[in-house]
Amino acid sequence: MKVIVIGGGAAGFFTAINIAEKHPDYQVTILEKTSKLLQKVKVSGGGRCNVTNERNKPSELVQYYPRGSKKLHQLFRQFTTSDMVDWLAKREVQTKAEVDKRMFPVSDSSQTIIDCFIDQARRYKVEVIQNQSLMTLNHNNGKWELTTPSQKFKADKVVVATGSSPLTWKVLEQTGLEITPGVPSLFTFNIKDDRLKDLQGISFEETQIKIVGSKLSESGPLLITHWGLSGPAVLKLSAWGAYELADKNYKFQVLINFTNLKPDEIRSNLINYKTANPKRKIVNYPLFDLPKRFWERMVNYCDITNETPFGELSKKHINKLVEELGQGKYTVNGKSTFKEEFVTAGGIKLSEVNLETFECRRFPNLYIAGEALDIDALTGGFNFQACWSAGWVISECI
Ligand SMILES: Cc1cc2nc3c(=O)[nH]c(=O)nc-3n(C[C@H](O)[C@H](O)[C@H](O)COP(=O)(O)OP(=O)(O)OC[C@H]3O[C@@H](n4cnc5c(N)ncnc54)[C@H](O)[C@@H]3O)c2cc1C
Repeated sequence: MKVIVIGGGAAGFFTAINIAEKHPDYQVTILEKTSKLLQKVKVSGGGRCNVTNERNKPSELVQYYPRGSKKLHQLFRQFTTSDMVDWLAKREVQTKAEVDKRMFPVSDSSQTIIDCFIDQARRYKVEVIQNQSLMTLNHNNGKWELTTPSQKFKADKVVVATGSSPLTWKVLEQTGLEITPGVPSLFTFNIKDDRLKDLQGISFEETQIKIVGSKLSESGPLLITHWGLSGPAVLKLSAWGAYELADKNYKFQVLINFTNLKPDEIRSNLINYKTANPKRKIVNYPLFDLPKRFWERMVNYCDITNETPFGELSKKHINKLVEELGQGKYTVNGKSTFKEEFVTAGGIKLSEVNLETFECRRFPNLYIAGEALDIDALTGGFNFQACWSAGWVISECI
């Protein structure tokens, strides 16, 4: 039995290792387009590799996948995040969870994961052939025939784990698979605005952001960067709104609530503070747990001088502060890559595979794993987990 896994990335390696371990009589080969292996694992999580997440209930996990969502329930029932933690532990890679439940190797180095995979591939005699880019994939007389620019290969079973490569999606489309066009997900917002100028590094624990003229809205921490806004609230919006924001060509307006309070509550808090502390200079007493430099910027932006005490806060000033803090309007003009993690939404349509086996419905003995499929997640180790789970399921079913 000859199995060819196309793609030497996270999904390809994990699938190949598990097939080879479970089926010592199978000949398992990885074909990789480039001269490098596990390239994205290397740079993942800022070089630390956010390998999975501490959340492990399938019903909870599926909520982190804008593309895939509930359809992945069965997948995580078969191999969930804690199974990956055990899989690594059995191979002497210890992991740790951070307070936000993201999990990393204890070494804080993605090289640990790479070393583990390379070692396991060697141990189970997985053949790895680099610089082999799949050009055609055809089924003939019960065998899969693959060509690369320099070689021809034949296999009984093929696993496609080529990630989000549009060129390779074209090759797969010629095989007859239906593809959802890709758009970026997990990006940050470019905003040029005097209210944010020189405030990079300031963060807010709980904010709400809404896209004007859309139903898209998210809450969570927010970070001012030197090009605009980032942080979990923005990344979540970019993932859930990947297609809608691409349609807007990444030009839209957002309303930001920096306080986690309703406008009426912001107003009553300001009025109560004014009554209780009429002599205190406004600029010196940030309310709503806002960072001091941001509070100063907002106070000045609302035409309140540095000398004005709370007692002299006019109704007009209060209205303006309520607006700026509760629904400040900002214009987004473009996106930037979030270097810690980014993915592409889109890929081979989920309807093409049986989600219990990850085998193609229309092409027996052809399996798909990882980002090549139309599955993508929020940040937190969920993107890798989709690779591990599908790879495991394929190794069980193949
Ligand atoms: C900077 C960055 C940081 C990230 N950090 C994290 C993180 O910490 N946690 C997390 O969960 N996710 C993270 N991700 C997302 C994660 O890396 C991907 O979801 C994951 O790598 C997808 O794995 P894959 O094997 O499907 O694709 P890939 O890792 O992209 O591997 C696909 C492989 O197939 C090869 N290939 C493509 N076409 C062909 C062809 N025609 N023939 C042969 N080979 C081919 C490619 O060269 C590549 O080696 C990050 C992504 C980026 C970009």
